[in-house]
Amino acid sequence: TQQAAVRSQQLASLGQLASGVAHEIRTPLTSLKLFLESIENEITISPEYEEDFQVAMNQIRRMEATINRFLDFARPREPVYSWLEVGDLLEDALLIIGPRARLQETTIRKSLSPSLPKIKGDRKQLGEALLNLMVNALEAMPQRGRLTVAAHPGELPGTDGSRPCVVIDISDTSPGIQGENIGRLFEPFFTTKATGAGLGLSIVSSTVQRHGGEVMVRSVVGRGTTFSVFIPTEAEPAIGKNGKHTDS
Ligand code: ADP
Ligand code: MG
Repeated sequence: TQQAAVRSQQLASLGQLASGVAHEIRTPLTSLKLFLESIENEITISPEYEEDFQVAMNQIRRMEATINRFLDFARPREPVYSWLEVGDLLEDALLIIGPRARLQETTIRKSLSPSLPKIKGDRKQLGEALLNLMVNALEAMPQRGRLTVAAHPGELPGTDGSRPCVVIDISDTSPGIQGENIGRLFEPFFTTKATGAGLGLSIVSSTVQRHGGEVMVRSVVGRGTTFSVFIPTEAEPAIGKNGKHTDS
């Protein structure tokens, strides 16, 4: 049996590092592409090289598309804050995964504490984060698992009770996460799935950070995994802290 807890704080900075690198690569890549395009127009490429040239151009366009997609993800739109019922957020996400859950015969349990304060957040972004966690849970237990979503008042970890928050737990009964993977879950592009993009948890992590909160994961091999999202209920400095660096 393995157990581990990971905080997303340091890991989110990996995302920043990655987008820094992506920016650094995009600029020379764009000049390279423009240069090659002008060559193509200015000079006649001998027929024997024409195909190679097109292959190279396509590869460059492909790199550019990948980088742009990544940067879109790394620099999402400015959040629009409003007061949200956590119960509504969970209900919306559950509605979306409903058909998939029925298909794989997953039981869904919901447990909401009656005295749940509202949270200030971006409905779409938080909804997408919760959806990502639920989809991961479903994918981790392809048949007959149990998905439990719960929410209760709590406090932000490591603040000595000074920051009240709402804690949202998304738990599954999957085989759990291997110890060697647990530290890498929030890395952009980390995936153990054949066709996974590996961006779901990075999006969760950056969204929750943007809301001044935190994500933690706890997994017991053979039993299941719980992702806990902590969202502060009192807007403090953390909110609105992004936008510090602007795009060039
Ligand atoms: P993706 O789902 O595309 O692989 P994510 O960022 O959403 O990307 O998840 C990254 C990895 O974390 C997954 O490939 C999987 O190995 C692991 N993971 C995430 N959620 C769970 C879960 N509930 N149970 C087991 N493993 C999980
Ligand atoms: Mg995912």
